[in-house]
Amino acid sequence: MLKFDNVNFGYSSNIIFSGLSMQMNPGEFCFLIGKSGSGKSTLLQMIYMNLFPQSGLVQFDKYDSKTIKGKDLPFLRRKLGIIFQDFKLLKDRNIYDNLALILEVLNTPKKEIKRRINDVLTDVNLIHRRNSMPDELSGGEKQKVAIARSVVNEPLLILADEPTGNLDPETSLEIINILQKINARGTAVLFATHNYEIIKKVDARILKLDNGKAVRAVFKQK
Ligand code: ADP
Ligand code: MG
Repeated sequence: MLKFDNVNFGYSSNIIFSGLSMQMNPGEFCFLIGKSGSGKSTLLQMIYMNLFPQSGLVQFDKYDSKTIKGKDLPFLRRKLGIIFQDFKLLKDRNIYDNLALILEVLNTPKKEIKRRINDVLTDVNLIHRRNSMPDELSGGEKQKVAIARSVVNEPLLILADEPTGNLDPETSLEIINILQKINARGTAVLFATHNYEIIKKVDARILKLDNGKAVRAVFKQK
């Protein structure tokens, strides 16, 4: 489903990846770890093809970094759900409308929009907040909405870029548990974090970025 093959990438003279290879199977839950500045966000951007390798290949679903055309990018991105540390909710509309927007641009019928939003808000335990404005929510609630938004379009893979970076430990665990529940139904998750406490709580494959390469990391489970 996802493959990096011998990828080289740098920002001008700052080399980030040299000969990076990794892959993920459909439905897998994987942590992407590495210290701040090791290239986690850069790697995720290469998956949604906001950035391209200088050499080597990134493949996701039926798309690859060598042959993809600009007009294909929206189709590729529809197969991804993306969650950021800072939520990126639209402040001028309520929770329901934040989610509806994703489906409206795809011309989803109104009834189907309603059904899917009810389903995903139920999944993240926020159905009672459907009419709230983003700023009326706590950080944890905002992140749950961002998770709901990332899955409302039924993606193949969720990219989570330090989604618990601004949250307390208890809320972080709740976020992880929600993502595990979504993963258990078949959606793959790639979870970038530099918080080593979090990864101890979940039994999942760990990819570590080190010296511009991805290495398999094994930590003792609690
Ligand atoms: P992480 O997410 O692991 O903290 P990043 O992928 O954000 O790491 O960044 C990796 C390195 O690339 C850092 O040294 C960062 O300063 C640099 N970097 C990130 N984005 C850019 C950019 N747009 N232009 C130049 N350098 C960048
Ligand atoms: Mg980052």
